[in-house]
Amino acid sequence: MLRGLARRKPENLQMTVQGLDAPVTVRRSARARRLTLSVNEARRNGVLTVPLHTSLEEAGDFLSRHFEWLRDRLAAMPEGVPFSDGTVMPLRGLEHELQFVGPARRRGVVWTRADDDSSDKAVDWSGGQKAAGGSLPVICVAGDEQHAPRRLKDWLIREARADLTARSHWHAKNLSLAPKRITVRDQTTRWGSCSATGVLSYSWRVILAPPFVLDYLAAHEVAHLKEMNHSKRFWALVRETMPRMEEGRRWLRKHGNSLHRFGVEA
Ligand SMILES: [Zn+2]
Repeated sequence: MLRGLARRKPENLQMTVQGLDAPVTVRRSARARRLTLSVNEARRNGVLTVPLHTSLEEAGDFLSRHFEWLRDRLAAMPEGVPFSDGTVMPLRGLEHELQFVGPARRRGVVWTRADDDSSDKAVDWSGGQKAAGGSLPVICVAGDEQHAPRRLKDWLIREARADLTARSHWHAKNLSLAPKRITVRDQTTRWGSCSATGVLSYSWRVILAPPFVLDYLAAHEVAHLKEMNHSKRFWALVRETMPRMEEGRRWLRKHGNSLHRFGVEA
C-alpha cells in the first residue's frame, strides 16, 4: 500500500485507499515520534503521519487497523459546497445566493445585490432549518461560466483583504502598534499568523464568517505584534482592543471548520 514512499526521506505522498471517500496524504516526517492518523477537514483528506524510523509495513498495518475509524470520520465530514450557479453560501455571516449571470458590461465582474423583499438572513451555523420565505441577497458573477468559480474566489480574497486590512490597522492603532505588512492567502492550517518581522497573514475564508469573528482574528494577530505567545498578557491585550473576543474565539472553534466546505472543486 505504501510502496511509493521512500524509506528514510521526509516527503508527502497522496494516495487513494479502496473503500475511502477521500484521499489519504502520507507524511513521512523527521519530526514525528509515532504513527498518527487524522482527518484534515480543510483539505478534506485523511493524514497518516509516519516517523522516518518506522517501516512501511508497520505503517500499512497501522492504517489497516484504524481503517474503520478513518472511514467513519471521513464520511462524517460535512459535504463540500462547490461554487456554482444557485449555490447558497455565507458572506460576512449572511446567506447569499450565487448567480452566474453570463456576459455583463456594467460594474465589476462580481457584485452583490440585495433583493428588494429580502431581509438579511443570518446563516444558521448550528445546521438547523433555514428561515422560510423571502429571497436571499445575491452575489452576481459575470462572464464566462467556466471561470466564474475562480473569479468569485479572487473577489472573495479581495473582500477579505479589504476588511482584514481595515480591522488590523484599527486594532493596531488602538494598541499603538504597527504591522509591517498584511497578506491574505488560501491557507488551511491556521486562520492567521504573525511573523517575527511583523507581517500578519490571514486565511481569506474568514470573510464568510460573521464580522465579529473577522474582527477577533485581526485583534488576535495584531496583539502578537507585541506578545509573540499566548500568555495572560497576550489575552489581556486582545481583550483590551476586542472586548467580545471570547465570542469570536468560541465561534471559530465551533464553526471554523465548516468554512472550508465552500468553494471545493466541483
Ligand atoms: Zn495566536
